[in-house]
Parts: sequence; C-alpha cells; structure tokens
Amino acid sequence: MSTTPTEVRTTATTPEPMLPRPYRVQRIRQETSDTFTLELEPESGGQELEFAPGQFNMLYAFGVGEVPISISGDPIRPAILVHTTREVGAVTRAMRKLKRWDSLGVRGPFGVGWPVVPARGADVVIVAGGIGLAPLRPALYQILAARKYYGRVVLLYGTRTPADILFRRELQQWRSGFDLEVHVTVDRAMGNWRGNVGVVTTLISRAPFDPHSSVAMVCGPEIMMRFTVQELERRGVALENIYLSMERNMKCAVGFCGHCQFGPTFICKDGPVFRYDRLQSLLAIREI
Ligand SMILES: Cc1cc2nc3c(=O)[nH]c(=O)nc-3n(C[C@H](O)[C@H](O)[C@H](O)COP(=O)(O)OP(=O)(O)OC[C@H]3O[C@@H](n4cnc5c(N)ncnc54)[C@H](O)[C@@H]3O)c2cc1C
Repeated sequence: MSTTPTEVRTTATTPEPMLPRPYRVQRIRQETSDTFTLELEPESGGQELEFAPGQFNMLYAFGVGEVPISISGDPIRPAILVHTTREVGAVTRAMRKLKRWDSLGVRGPFGVGWPVVPARGADVVIVAGGIGLAPLRPALYQILAARKYYGRVVLLYGTRTPADILFRRELQQWRSGFDLEVHVTVDRAMGNWRGNVGVVTTLISRAPFDPHSSVAMVCGPEIMMRFTVQELERRGVALENIYLSMERNMKCAVGFCGHCQFGPTFICKDGPVFRYDRLQSLLAIREI
C-alpha cells in the first residue's frame, strides 16, 4: 500500500435521481428465516445499473414505502440487480411478500462505496456482522476478481446463531479456495455447529494479516463496529485505514431532505462508507 486509501466517491448518475424506475422480481431466495435476496431486472429491459461495492439503492414497495438497501450482487454483472434484505418492518415485510414478476421501484445507485481499488497492494480485512455481510459481498467479488493486486485477504464473519449465517454455499466455496481466508463465528452454538463460538471481535487478534499494511472494511450493528475498531486498533491497524458503513435511517438519498444529516455530513451522499477517523464524532451521536 503506497498511501492511505481515499474513499471511492460515486453518486447517482441517473438524470432523475428522485424518480423510481420500475424493476421486476426475477428471482427470490430465502437466505435465513428473516432474510431474503431479490434479483431484479428493469421492466423496460436493456439498461444495466453499474455500481460500486458499498453503494445502495432506494427500493420502493409500491403503496407502502421506500427504504435504502445495499447492493449485494457482483459489480461485474450489473445486468441483474441483487439486494439482500432483513425483514424488520412495514416496507421490508412488503418486499418479502413480492412474487416472481412483481414490480418494485428502484432509485440509485447512491453513496460512497468501499475503497476496493485504493486498497490494492495492502492486506484486506473484512469484518461483517449479520446482515452486514450483504453490503460487503460486492467488495469481496471485486477483490477476488483482481486477486493478484492484494496481499492477504481475510473475511471475519459473525452471526447470532448458525441459522443466521448468510450466503452459506458461497462462504464454503471461498473457504475451499486458497485466495481468501474465511473465519466464521456465532454468538450461540446450536444444532451440530462445530465452529467458533464468540463474538466476531474475538477473531481479530489471531487473524492472519499484517496490521501495518492493512485496510479494514467493517459492516454490522453499530455496537459491533465500535468494538471491532477497538480490536483492530489494538492489533495495530491505523484508524485512517479502517472503513465503516453507517446504515442509518434516510429518506431522499441525495443530500436534500436532511434526514440523515449530522452537522455538515450527510450519510446518504458522503457515506454510507466512511473512514473511521472522519466518523468518530458522528458515532458518538445517537440516531435521530
Ligand atoms: C445505506 C443503507 C443501506 C442499508 N442496507 C441494507 C441491506 O443491505 N439490507 C437490509 O436488510 N437492510 C439495510 N438497511 C436497513 C434498511 O434500510 C432498514 O431495515 C429499513 O429501512 C427498514 O424499513 P421497514 O419499513 O421495513 O422497517 P421500519 O418500520 O422503518 O423499522 C423497523 C425497525 O427497524 C429499525 N430500523 C429502520 N431502519 C433502520 C436502520 N437503517 N438501521 C437500524 N435500524 C433500523 C426501526 O427503528 C424499527 O425499530 C440499510 C440502511 C441504510 C441507511
């Protein structure tokens, strides 16, 4: 790594960022009991939605509401738009009820993504908690597609129980390759789980990466991200090489309504991915 990586700044390139475009559900996959993946294609056909890993779209369940959801697919295959969503409330519940060929509005992509290209030359440590693996998956795809440019690449993933593990088959494939080190842990072991037990931060001290030449990308509940940063710092990773995704509530996604504004910072357009040293003061503020 030659210099401190800078964020990838990419904002919506659509001429009308406030206007949802109709997409139809092409495929639905139930990932866990409360989490599902939708594969979408534009109703009008043709247009590909290019995106950077870490960016999100506003998904509009017609007649119910609109929510920000990160893109969880492969940036090299933008023809199909992939979103992995946990059902928590009215809009995500309506999305879960969609059937094949049903319509959904899409605005985006929005926001600043993970520093995948600037991290070339460094080791990469990806720390994900629960649904936090979804916004990080495009970064993993992009890194693996250009694997020779990176040092060691480590994925540390934690969930509450084994039943909450996302993308199981892919995790197994990644683990059986030689180019990505995958460690999974659960808070509570159940069934025939024989893997690690404990929160994801416990994996950091023994993970194989060089802390002095590493870029860390972290996504999960805010409490998990705080403790992850502490552990990474204890291991010797510089704060300016740690990136977090702040998935706080937002409305317009284009820095207009102020719903996600903290002082001069808008989560929607300056984030959701931030360098930790620029985020420290923001993390101290509770969500409004
Ligand atoms: C940039 C960004 C990217 C996101 N990416 C994803 C993703 O890839 N997959 C995914 O499942 N979710 C993601 N989220 C969270 C998702 O937007 C919310 O879960 C969704 O808005 C909930 O809407 P709802 O109407 O279903 O629930 P609501 O009725 O609005 O909320 C249900 C409960 O969830 C809480 N909640 C709502 N939004 C959030 C939030 N952002 N963070 C924490 N708690 C929240 C509410 O306070 C309430 O307790 C992302 C959020 C942001 C800001």
